[in-house]
Amino acid sequence: SVLADQIAAGEVVERPASVVKELVENALDAHSTRVDVLVQEAGVRSIRVIDDGDGIAADDVLTAFKRHATSKITSREDLFRVHSLGFRGEALPSIASVADVTLVTSTGTSGTSIHYRGGKLVHQAPAPLRQGTDITVTDLFYNTPARLKYLKSPQTELANIVDVVNRLALSYPNVAIRLVHNSKELLRTAGRGDLQRVIAGIYGVKNARKMVAIKGQTDDFQLTGYVALPELTRASRQYISILINGRAIKNQQLTKAVIAGYGSKLMVGRYPIAVIALTMDPLMVDVNVHPTKQEVRLSKEPVLAKLISATITARLADENL
Ligand code: ADP
Ligand code: MG
Repeated sequence: SVLADQIAAGEVVERPASVVKELVENALDAHSTRVDVLVQEAGVRSIRVIDDGDGIAADDVLTAFKRHATSKITSREDLFRVHSLGFRGEALPSIASVADVTLVTSTGTSGTSIHYRGGKLVHQAPAPLRQGTDITVTDLFYNTPARLKYLKSPQTELANIVDVVNRLALSYPNVAIRLVHNSKELLRTAGRGDLQRVIAGIYGVKNARKMVAIKGQTDDFQLTGYVALPELTRASRQYISILINGRAIKNQQLTKAVIAGYGSKLMVGRYPIAVIALTMDPLMVDVNVHPTKQEVRLSKEPVLAKLISATITARLADENL
């Protein structure tokens, strides 16, 4: 029902950035090689995501807007095992229940356009055969005024969107990702698989030159990534990105371990830019935390924290700083 979808939307769709996250994740799950994200007025006016991925077959489009109709993995345990970001089958119906959604999609052999508003199907028709999916969300939260009122300033909502897209771009260096806000391009990655170039796209070429590659491992963990030299710091920890098996996560202890790796090289209140890519057995990742929150716990977390800080400390010592 529309009501059940709206209740689910309360969990999945908190703010414009959550819509962006779900739509871009769907594009990435569909094996896209390029994803364009076009946002107006911090996403409150419109969010459009265009991809060149698999598309949705004409027969499956209505199902995609039904709850729990996922074409993807079926258990949480699969999350860090399978390279697919979605699994709940809740995003499309949730978003469609609290906004106006137009989706044009083609698999190459069939093309469909479909329009939902407030959870109700407004229109469905055949569409041209451009491979991929083009989805536009407008009037977000128009029928849930409490949610609309809860939104922060446009700058904050936009910062959240940028953060979401940046993290996905870091996790998918093989995909060309572009973010445009009110006609201004905020991010463009080349999609050639080079993490350092993605970092340059996000933080600027000059800053990327002030970052060094790191590498380390234990029996259980493999670590690669880039960390900023101590001269390149920010006033917030949010520039520390941690990826596990290609998926951006949040974990306080590991973030602290990155900072600890700098020892006394960081001034009080300053934090590095860092991208830490970890590979481990998926069974070591505890996914019993709400999936949209991104916060995960790990087995042997202290061992991993030590690996991270020691690897960074050693690398910065190499640089003779
Ligand atoms: P989930 O991603 O958890 O499966 P969603 O509600 O996000 O659920 O999407 C529902 C289904 O719609 C997906 O399983 C997928 O089959 C299809 N879908 C959504 N967006 C796209 C897209 N951009 N390209 C191809 N298929 C898509
Ligand atoms: Mg999804």
